[in-house]
Amino acid sequence: MENVDYIIVGDGYASLFFAHQLIKNNKSFVVFSEEKTSASRVSAGIINPVVLKKFTTFWKAQEQIDFLKETLNEIEKYTGQNYLIDAPIHRIFHDENEQQLWLKKSSNDNLFHFLDKNFTHLEVVKNDFNSGKVNQSARLDVKGFFTGLFDFLLKREQLIKEKFIYSDLNIADHTYKNISYKQILFCEGMAVKDNPFFSDIPVVPNKGHHIKVKLSRALPENNTIKKKHFLFPIDDEKYFYGGTYDREQLHHEIDSSAVKQLENGLKEFYPHDFSIEEVHFGFRPTVKDRRPIIGRHHLHYDMYVFNGLGARGILNGCYFSRSLYDYIENKIPLHEEIAFERFT
Ligand SMILES: Cc1cc2nc3c(=O)[nH]c(=O)nc-3n(C[C@H](O)[C@H](O)[C@H](O)COP(=O)(O)OP(=O)(O)OC[C@H]3O[C@@H](n4cnc5c(N)ncnc54)[C@H](O)[C@@H]3O)c2cc1C
Repeated sequence: MENVDYIIVGDGYASLFFAHQLIKNNKSFVVFSEEKTSASRVSAGIINPVVLKKFTTFWKAQEQIDFLKETLNEIEKYTGQNYLIDAPIHRIFHDENEQQLWLKKSSNDNLFHFLDKNFTHLEVVKNDFNSGKVNQSARLDVKGFFTGLFDFLLKREQLIKEKFIYSDLNIADHTYKNISYKQILFCEGMAVKDNPFFSDIPVVPNKGHHIKVKLSRALPENNTIKKKHFLFPIDDEKYFYGGTYDREQLHHEIDSSAVKQLENGLKEFYPHDFSIEEVHFGFRPTVKDRRPIIGRHHLHYDMYVFNGLGARGILNGCYFSRSLYDYIENKIPLHEEIAFERFT
């Protein structure tokens, strides 16, 4: 029998950022990965403190950004790689009104550090009203992050590439097959709906597609350009463009209307030829109040859930993994806005 402090079920941002807290605090654990493409792996990797529709910010944005940067530095120390791409977002303005709104908002105390007052004119793309730079925005190297952390966990024999079977869990004995655990944490994203212990948490799937495209005229700089969606280079050849939002078409196949939406969105500001090389999709686990859902099972006190990361899986996953760790190990209560008791 193998003894561990934690079993983590799932392998997306929620799981890996919590695993980092365990590594930092010398706790033993294993992660179960059924090796499906998670929403996390499909994500764009955008790290953004601003809501770019209305030019507002959100709860704890600055704290979340600072904590993410600190965390990625710590992860770099043991995986040997940097995953933070220092490439800012440039939001293309639709008209003069948007420019004025941006300038007005940039004087607000909570947006002052994020909205750059100097507008930029971008080359190659159409931006008749210029673009606004989001200071402190960046990207995560999504592929590198997952490859680096999975390799690290594999070497330490902490990654079990198997689907976790709920009926094989022995709650009374604290065992799963040949593993004896102290705590078990479920981080399954939308697959939580199959979890008999937490299937009723109110997460709602929001399907997102992205496309990988080849552009006939390359963008001169490694920026992230945002108009309807985000456009940025992935490697020498391909660019990422996405993602869409859809609460209706929830089947597990590519949706042609989402691809059309992306194609049209890109044509709006990229006036040159491009070809779509790949299409991917995933399901964001969203919550009505836009806060994660974190908590302990009401009957099984060694069983926890970390879900509802929504459209901001990187910032939410990173920041609230520490809240969850402190809750379990240091008995620090969860903030009422993220505790899952708010729904009961
Ligand atoms: C197109 C798109 C673009 C996005 N862009 C961004 C972005 O730029 N920035 C950002 O911050 N967020 C972005 N997001 C949102 C982000 O991806 C999600 O918030 C995040 O991925 C949720 O992470 P999670 O770990 O909760 O779930 P998931 O990423 O879904 O991971 C859960 C994993 O658990 C596995 N699992 C489930 N059940 C079991 C089981 N029984 N046994 C073993 N494994 C199991 C699943 O296979 C899955 O791999 C985007 C999402 C989409 C779809």
